[in-house]
Amino acid sequence: MKKIYFDHNATTPVHEEVFEAMLPYLKEEWGNPSSIHWAARAPRKAVDTARERIAAFLNCTPLEVIFTSSGTESDNHAIKGLVNAKKGKGNHIITTKVEHPAVLNTCKHLAKEGYEVTYLGVDSKGMLDIDELKDGVTDRTILITVMYANNETGVVFPVDEIAAIAREKGIAFHTDAVQAAGKVPLDMQKLNVDLLSISGHKLYGPKGMGALFARRGVRLVPLIHGGHHERNRRGGTENVAGIVGLGKACEIASRDMEREIAQLTRLRDRLEKGLIERIEHVYVNGDRENRLPNTTNISFEFVEGESLLLNLDMKGIAASSGSACTSGSLEPSHVLMAMGMSHELSHGSVRFSLGRINTEEDVDYLIEEMPPIVDRMRSMSPLYAGAK
Ligand code: PLP
Repeated sequence: MKKIYFDHNATTPVHEEVFEAMLPYLKEEWGNPSSIHWAARAPRKAVDTARERIAAFLNCTPLEVIFTSSGTESDNHAIKGLVNAKKGKGNHIITTKVEHPAVLNTCKHLAKEGYEVTYLGVDSKGMLDIDELKDGVTDRTILITVMYANNETGVVFPVDEIAAIAREKGIAFHTDAVQAAGKVPLDMQKLNVDLLSISGHKLYGPKGMGALFARRGVRLVPLIHGGHHERNRRGGTENVAGIVGLGKACEIASRDMEREIAQLTRLRDRLEKGLIERIEHVYVNGDRENRLPNTTNISFEFVEGESLLLNLDMKGIAASSGSACTSGSLEPSHVLMAMGMSHELSHGSVRFSLGRINTEEDVDYLIEEMPPIVDRMRSMSPLYAGAK
């Protein structure tokens, strides 16, 4: 059976060069980088080099990079670390309704602890209203946390505008750039964010590895207390192989991004055009201008998304839906619901997220296989029969 992977926003395959770079640190260079003897030297150097590579990728200084265990930890570290450091200065956080659970549930947790949280809405294209953000700021606001790009729709938020507002008002600004890293250039000299999260496995690096950019001077209370690692900012012996992998992944992303953006955009557009031409009642969700090059979220009316995914899986095609049906609940996607979509349409939505391994043949295979599957499913739908 063919195996075609259109789920790169869930995770990416480890790049061959990343794998090669990591191997020595799982094998012969097993020393603890904090030791003072010979066994520490190579791992210590490797950690330093990786930090420099990530700093080059983000155009920041190596001291502004904190290694974490995931994008989720980076988000938690940024948000909890910042509000804990600002105790007594205010208790209000601004975020959006469409954040990843790593941010959303962190904010919900803080709300239970007494923080006031404003969840900004989005319009039908999944875009933020900047005026709503401005109006939401109070003299108690200590943090704005708004994602760079949405994992379900790929919509890219105007992070530079938000950063300008935050800076003008003297409010800390964190952005979850887990989906943006490697797909759009991130330059910390140009972007006035204070905190930015990235994750290894979304950019062809290892799972369980993340980093947090924390601008010089931004104070954070550590999330994980322990030894003096990461200059007292995150305790725990370094995951040397993971760190090396993330460093290499960032180096490769810097090198290949321009070419990949062009390729992904071309494939994504071909995929959308092919499906729209061949299947009726199909809608692309989210702002089609301001979005990641690799992501498309498509609603197939009169079709149940989870069954569609199972049918695609039988053809060897991996894609995903934003809804949480797979985890046993039938909740529709919180992102599509925030965009004002009906339950039915949101349940019929599929996310295709492309990556460097995809080819035109992959896309054409999907375009060939999809129409008969949708036809079959619709033929069983009383709603479709009524709509015809
Ligand atoms: N933030 C966003 C936008 C994501 O898409 C994800 C993963 O899907 C995360 C955070 C969490 O990253 P990790 O899987 O490394 O914990």
